[in-house]
This record gives sequence, C-alpha cells and structure tokens, in this order.
Amino acid sequence: MAGTNLINRRGALIGAAGATGTLLAGAAAAAVPEIDTGRVQGGQVEFPAWTAPTERPSGGPPNPMPVSERVGFAVVGLGRLTLEEVLPAFGEAKRSRLVALVSGTPDKAARVAAQYGLRPEAVYDYAGFDRIRDNPEIRAVYIVLPNSLHKEYTIRAAQAGKDVLCEKPMAMSSAEGQAMVDACRAAGRKLMIAYRCQYEPYNREVLRMVREATFGPARFIDAVNVQNQGDGAQWRFKRALAGGGSLPDVGLYCLNAARYLTGEEPVEVFARSVSPPGDPRYAEVEESVTFMLRFPGGVVANCATSYGMHESRLLRVHTPGAAISLDGAFSYHDKQLRITRREGRAEAVEERRIPMLNQFALELDHMAECILSNREPHTPGEEGVQDHRIMEAIYQSAASGQPVALPRVEGLDRTRGPAPSS
Ligand code: NDP
Repeated sequence: MAGTNLINRRGALIGAAGATGTLLAGAAAAAVPEIDTGRVQGGQVEFPAWTAPTERPSGGPPNPMPVSERVGFAVVGLGRLTLEEVLPAFGEAKRSRLVALVSGTPDKAARVAAQYGLRPEAVYDYAGFDRIRDNPEIRAVYIVLPNSLHKEYTIRAAQAGKDVLCEKPMAMSSAEGQAMVDACRAAGRKLMIAYRCQYEPYNREVLRMVREATFGPARFIDAVNVQNQGDGAQWRFKRALAGGGSLPDVGLYCLNAARYLTGEEPVEVFARSVSPPGDPRYAEVEESVTFMLRFPGGVVANCATSYGMHESRLLRVHTPGAAISLDGAFSYHDKQLRITRREGRAEAVEERRIPMLNQFALELDHMAECILSNREPHTPGEEGVQDHRIMEAIYQSAASGQPVALPRVEGLDRTRGPAPSS
C-alpha cells in the first residue's frame, strides 16, 4: 500500500539519521493519514477537505495534463497583451502550452523565446509565417495583432492546417469576419474568438443568476467600459489598423456582455458618438460612444464606452428582486460582485467572493479542450461576426441620429457553441 511504503521509507531515512532520527521514526510509526498525503484517483492528485464545512473549499491541485499531451500554441504578435497576460497565463494553463512565437521584432522575439524556454527555431517572422505548417508541435495559433491583421493571419494559419484563436474585435467588419469563418470552415479548422469574459468566473456567475432568473427576469442592463488612452502614435488611433476607436476596442465588451447575458440578439440599436474637437488623436477614430440595445424579450441595455475617461468597467443587471452589480467586469483582475436586495426591513448589500482564476488560461484551455475533443468553441467566429454586424448598426445610428432596426433572431445563444466545462 502506498501509505505503508511511505512510512517504511520515512522510517528508514529517519532511522539512518541517528538518535534524534530514531525518536522521530518512533513518532512516525503510525500511518500518515490520507488527509496529509493526498491520493491519486482517476489520474488526478487530490486531497480530502482539511477545513471544516463552514469554510470555502480550496480549488484543489490544478492537475494539469502531462506537458507532452497539451495542445501547442504559436502566439502571433509580441505586444502588451501577449507579454503581460497571455504568455504568463500559459503557466496556469492545464491543457495548453506555448511552443512557438511569431514576431516582426527579432531582438524582442529572441529575448522572449529565451524567457519562456523556446528554441530559436520556434520563432517565426511574418514573412516566414507559413512555415508553421511544418511544425507539428503547433496545433493552434493565437492571433494577438492589431485588428487589421487578424483576417490575413487567421486565414494563413487555417490554410497551414492550424486551429485559430483570434483576439477581439475579430476583424475590421462583419464581411471580413465572415470571410474568416468561411476560410476556416473550408480548411476544416476551428476558429474561436478570444471573448475572455465568457470564460471568467465572476461574469459566469452573473450569467447564471440572469439565466436562472434568481431574482426575477433581467429588465435593464447597464454596461460601462471606459479608459483614458494616451499617446496618439499608437495603432489604436489609426483607422486602417484599428477599424474604429473605443467602440470595437472596449465598447465591444459591453455589447458582447448584453448579448451573452440575455442570450438574445438585439432588434434595435440607438447610438450617439462624440469626440473632443481639435484633438488630433480623434481625426480618424471616435473617442466615445453611448448606445442602447433593445432585445426581443424586453431587456434594454444601456452601454457607454470611451477613450477619454478614467478607467471604469462596470456591469449592472436590474431585476425586480435585486440589482446585480459587477465592478471591474471587463478588467483582468480586481472584481467586486454585489447583490443589493431587501432583507426584512433593511436593504442588504451582499458581496460575493469567488476564487479568481486566470481568465486567459481558462480561454486557452477551452480552445485546447475543443481541439482535443473535437468540439465547437463556445465563442466561435460567428459570435464575432454578429458583434461586427451590431457595431455597424451602432455606427449607422450614431451617424444618422436615428434608431436602426436589426433582423430578429429566434432562439437563444444562436452564435455560441456549448458552454465551457470549467
Ligand atoms: P500592442 O500595440 O501592444 O501590440 C501589437 C503587436 O503587434 C506589436 O507589438 C507587434 O508585435 C505586432 N504588430 C505587427 N504589425 C504591427 C503594426 N503594423 N502596428 C503595430 N503592431 C504591429 O497591442 P495589444 O497587444 O494591446 O493588442 C493586440 C490585439 O489584442 C488587438 O486586437 C486588441 O484588440 C487585442 N486586445 C485584447 C485584449 C483582451 O483583453 N482580450 C486586451 C488588449 C488587446 P511584434 O513586434 O512582435 O511584431
């Protein structure tokens, strides 16, 4: 038995250490209980609960897949998101591993490859990108480039026989997005759009409460995603690279949240867009957009996005029985979930703390799981195309000052694959 072996081994080791050791060996004569050693069950290492039932259970060991069995990713574009979030997230991923980099900046790429233990042959440049076809370690490609480059590299990756995870916004327009969906389908490859919030536990808890109508049906959604953008030289201010300003970059989170919370598609949008006159950064793209989405089941979502306001990322769902408020809803970290409702004669404000998990690791692992089990991703290309269609209607409404009607879509979650398992 594993427990007995442990005791014997410890006894022998400690016994050999001399008199003190003999004392300890005596103390260790009783079997070390499983609560301390843990156990292996079904290929997973697990520990019995060690705290009382009154305490929140720990998540247990992460039990990652053996490294050689994980899905190998090539990450394309070594910008801020890649270096600050995506590459570190591989350290917390269970089914995914980093196997290659693609970059146009050789000294940075060489440094990053060394930092993450990759061989120089695992670094590609954009001209040599198609050579990824010959690297069997690369099963998936994660596109983290400026928006205008998503289509080209998605299609090249699919044609090189790789499945694709692409950053949001998926493209510059719904037509481009549809071309990406079609190209991946023609190549028989998966396409997932990196809507990280749909994999993140706090957002999923709000989703659960809304879909189960825990406090009654959702009636009204408020979503704000604003930040104060700096230097005008960056690609985000260039229409040809970004496709738009705050709307496709950060307003997209509000739009996507309203869609995944209700599961419905809006039938009407109404929008206004403003930019500070005379600020050269807004010569090509907008600073701020507010937009209203009307859903067929009666929910109205009021959304606001901007490049000119101090960071604030708030999602609030109003129901007859409670207000559900998620501060930091679209942030990488620092989330606060509050439920406000009646408690007898008092108004109770309940804060729910959920163990934080790395949402980039969750997203990578969802893609890996879809590849390993040949499943449709929860946020496939179609999810991104629909956001583009609605953003096009938002811009149209902002330009005309009139509401814009959208085609009615029957059923729920029509652009989504099965829900993530973890
Ligand atoms: P950065 O500006 O920080 O980095 C972009 C990188 O792309 C550059 O460092 C460069 O990498 C490469 N690149 C190749 N061609 C160009 C070009 N013509 N101009 C500029 N860069 C180029 O961007 P982010 O990392 O912030 O954003 C990348 C993508 O990720 C965007 O689509 C964005 O919307 C999305 N994003 C998503 C977030 C999320 O939370 N899901 C958060 C932030 C961004 P190299 O030198 O290696 O070639």
